[in-house]
Amino acid sequence: MARLIILGPPGSGKGTQAEYIARHFSIPAISTGDLFRAHVKGRTELGAEAGKYMDKGEFVPDHVTTGMLRLRLQDGDAAAGFLLDGYPRNAAQVLALDELLSSGRHAVDVVIALTVGDDELAARMLRRAKEQGRSDDTESVIKRRLELYRDETHAVVTSYTERGLLVSVDGTGEREAITAAAIAAVQAALERGSVAGPGRD
Ligand code: AMP
Repeated sequence: MARLIILGPPGSGKGTQAEYIARHFSIPAISTGDLFRAHVKGRTELGAEAGKYMDKGEFVPDHVTTGMLRLRLQDGDAAAGFLLDGYPRNAAQVLALDELLSSGRHAVDVVIALTVGDDELAARMLRRAKEQGRSDDTESVIKRRLELYRDETHAVVTSYTERGLLVSVDGTGEREAITAAAIAAVQAALERGSVAGPGRD
């Protein structure tokens, strides 16, 4: 049982790392970006609304994002823990998540911060744009997304640092080595915490 969050700028590889880390702890990786992209692809009403913001690199309004996450966390697979990827992204979402989790039995155990330098980030995102053809990976949109991360998501890092929940992991180098470092950091933090229990291998 582990309730984890992964933070990292766009292009830091957090989506990929989230999948591997979540698999290790036998919990689902829940990415708000992926949930939005599924809605866009499925041409739902929510997808049409979210897509307008995503294509500009802007945040989707908090109430839309939090509403979608609330529903996802009610799915059975999230009952035994989860790794959130891409949420919370600003100070208001930190509070919204506190509220979401306090109405259930959950609380956040560990927050992973993946760190990667700015130049490396921009290069990686442009490469990904070519490979995956994501409509929000153009140069101006990338710039805006990095800007928002710096301006808005910094408050999230500060907030979890103050709570003593943050572990920093260097996001440069081999994928496997980064995953191993993240898992080790989470494991150590979980063991330091008071919530011991089986099923955390
Ligand atoms: P990501 O895949 O996490 O980079 O998210 C892609 C896009 O989805 C972002 O640029 C935002 O437009 C939107 N998005 C994802 N998560 C959030 C969130 N927590 N709050 C607001 N917008 C979000």
